[in-house]
Amino acid sequence: MKLLIEHCDLLDPRAPRTRSARADQSILVDGMRITAIGDAADIAMQAQNQPGLQVIDGRHHLAIPGLISAHTHSPENFLRGAVERDPLEPWLVWLYGTCGQHTARDHYLAAAMSAIEMLLSGCTGSLDHLWHGGPWSYDILDSTMQAYRDSGIRATVAPMFDDHDYVLDAGDALGHDLRASVYGIAHGADDAARRAVLLDNLDIFDDWMTDWQGEANGRLQTFLGPGAGQLVTAECLRMTLDLARKHGAGMHMHCVETRVQDYCIRRAHEGRTVIQWMYDEGVLGPDVTLPHSVWIRSEADLDHLAKTGAIPVHNPAANLKLGSGLMALREMLDHGITVAIGVDGACSNDNQNMFESVKLAALAHNLKSYDPKTWISAKEAVDAATVGGAAAMLLKGEVGVLQAGKLADIVLLDEHSPVLSPMNDAYNMLAYCGGSAAVKHVIVNGEHVVKDGRIITFDAAAIAQEFRERVDHFPFRHEIDDRTKKDVKICYAFWWDVMNRVSNGE
Ligand SMILES: [Zn+2]
Repeated sequence: MKLLIEHCDLLDPRAPRTRSARADQSILVDGMRITAIGDAADIAMQAQNQPGLQVIDGRHHLAIPGLISAHTHSPENFLRGAVERDPLEPWLVWLYGTCGQHTARDHYLAAAMSAIEMLLSGCTGSLDHLWHGGPWSYDILDSTMQAYRDSGIRATVAPMFDDHDYVLDAGDALGHDLRASVYGIAHGADDAARRAVLLDNLDIFDDWMTDWQGEANGRLQTFLGPGAGQLVTAECLRMTLDLARKHGAGMHMHCVETRVQDYCIRRAHEGRTVIQWMYDEGVLGPDVTLPHSVWIRSEADLDHLAKTGAIPVHNPAANLKLGSGLMALREMLDHGITVAIGVDGACSNDNQNMFESVKLAALAHNLKSYDPKTWISAKEAVDAATVGGAAAMLLKGEVGVLQAGKLADIVLLDEHSPVLSPMNDAYNMLAYCGGSAAVKHVIVNGEHVVKDGRIITFDAAAIAQEFRERVDHFPFRHEIDDRTKKDVKICYAFWWDVMNRVSNGE
């Protein structure tokens, strides 16, 4: 498709702050890429006599690179607004006890709903750390990819798996019977049995990656998503990286989201932090993304991240909701570490709106110090959601910026929308003003996906209707069973025990 966006304002880091945009610009797109970008008069000359050229009137619109969410869990779309006031560990027990089984069609619907909300709120790329409440099968993965293919969003899917749970080991040592709980039953089989499952899963993933990596003109990617640092052995991570790198893919793994996780990992690895342990095992690199990374504090760990190029993913909404803490974002940026931003799943956020997550990333850190020099700037937050997200998707220099030769992932925001009126400094407006309400057009990989505020790739209303009809099928919609209630209590006893220990310096 050939596309001309005429007479828009263009977000430009080189433009003076007070505006941060250049006026009366045009963008020419041919196929998947931006072929020319600049003053409208110059681009009009280049676009002359091009057959089949589709024109978008960009007057009073700001063109920005599409935002990229570098961490979510699409199945949680069924669970938005379902829970409150629990920290992560008891929240997980509730989730395990009540989330039920998703069919392949449920996964399609949940991923499609994620894509719909993201596209309509100016997000062109999503990294989906996919979970499934049961054994993996090819059709579940296939169905999720089909949803992203049909939606038109750029998507990377990283299915979750694990092979040894150090939280359960800590529970055993401290005298809490997590192992018999719904959480423990999902994670606690003996190592030989878990290894067999791991090998089976890697076989399924290998086939799926062969079929889907780079599909839809490179718009779809398949990563591997070990569950979390407290859930895997070093051997599991090495096998994961071998398979990911065979397919030119990345590894995406939750990393010290909570103090409990940090405690359990240090206990399991002779006092080493997860980053020290991963560094020692040689499993950090620029193709490794680490959502949350909340409890990374030491100079040594920050240096390891900077040196290896591994990318922490900030999820401020989930971290606030579950009370997990706030990552050392200022320190990470000051160490030259690339950081991305993710919305996280809708059970811990509870939406898929990147503008909101960018705003939280830009503001929440102000509470940590009264020194404004340590606060996060609007441009730093927007860069994390664009340039940082591109690096997380292994698309550094391909998306996240609007320049000739780059892939055309473009969002046009209506400056006549109340949230963007009057248009002052563009970076400040993007970080603080809630730009999702102003999204008018979205282009992904050169394709027009949202036109005049409506998705044109598939029937979003029909998908939303089917999605709503499925929800009563899940146990969390009904009275919580006694077993889950009891297991949440057991987990809380463990959680308080560990939190008291870490508060006392353990
Ligand atoms: Zn997550």
